[in-house]
Amino acid sequence: MKYVMTEAVAPEGMALLDQSEKVYVAHDANPANYTEEMKDADALIVRAAPAKIVNKAVMEAAPQLKVIGRTGVGYDSVDVDAATELGIPVVITPGANNRAVAEHSLTLMLALSKNLVEAQVEASKGNWAIRDAHKQFELYGKKAGIIGLGRIGRDTASLCTGIGMKVAGYDPFLTKEQIEGMGYEYYANYEDLLKDCDVISIHVPLTKETENMVSAKQLKEMKNTAIIINCSRGGIINEADLIEALDSGEIAGAGLDVFVGEEIHPGNPLLDAKNLIFSPHSAAQTREAVINMATMCVEGCKAVCAG
Ligand code: NAD
Repeated sequence: MKYVMTEAVAPEGMALLDQSEKVYVAHDANPANYTEEMKDADALIVRAAPAKIVNKAVMEAAPQLKVIGRTGVGYDSVDVDAATELGIPVVITPGANNRAVAEHSLTLMLALSKNLVEAQVEASKGNWAIRDAHKQFELYGKKAGIIGLGRIGRDTASLCTGIGMKVAGYDPFLTKEQIEGMGYEYYANYEDLLKDCDVISIHVPLTKETENMVSAKQLKEMKNTAIIINCSRGGIINEADLIEALDSGEIAGAGLDVFVGEEIHPGNPLLDAKNLIFSPHSAAQTREAVINMATMCVEGCKAVCAG
């Protein structure tokens, strides 16, 4: 068997491959760096990468490809329709990183509500007076609106209740009874949830329905004291509209782990947006989750290859 990996998975996952299995690591998600190696590949393992970067051409370059593995939950980096058409299963790792991403979402909420990043940057420059800016607020008693109550959304909701927040949820695939049964306030419409909540945390897959679901119209209707967190996928919040909403004070802050096109680089206007903090799509990169994702993904690919 030959495995092509866009990047090496954690050693614990590598260790599951035996001597007879060949591995090619491209060190880059761009197919130009590994398409040639696909000629005799049986499995392709991909990390988070721009939407549909594993396209039909990549799959067609691999006549014996049996499986595509994704170390994570979102499968948007793979053209799943093309894989389905070609009969290639796509393996993901649900449950491997929900705790990591939920803790990261809470971290972004706490850091924003305590103005932590600006305070450190300013104090490092000698501006100790930043502590009197009084931009901080407490999350206790505030209402968190969770959009998408799947694995990560539920873990995030539970962490929010743990620090004394009220929780409301929107998920069109869950009933009112299911959401209320979890102990959360039910919203049938996410725009109402956005209007009412102090903190919004988004945990949905990137789909035609969720792309740009938070744009200028929705941001304008949010409280101007509200903060929004996106640890799901770039493009669910419209980036240009978010910058406008932050700079004009329509909302009080945003915490992002994900971006359109995956990475942001110097010159990207998001880097100059007011009250925006971010991490480099690292929410799922805890020591624990990285091992879970690597082992689950390799085991899943091996199981498919073994028939
Ligand atoms: P999940 O499948 O368990 O949950 C997704 C939830 O979203 C489901 O309950 C589903 O019903 C709901 N949903 C679908 N469409 C919706 C819509 N239009 N509006 C509201 N809810 C909708 O997945 P998960 O493990 O909780 O992961 C959620 C997403 O988080 C993934 O799809 C992935 O894109 C992202 N993610 C990001 C990272 C990261 O490193 N930042 C890591 C893992 C997952």
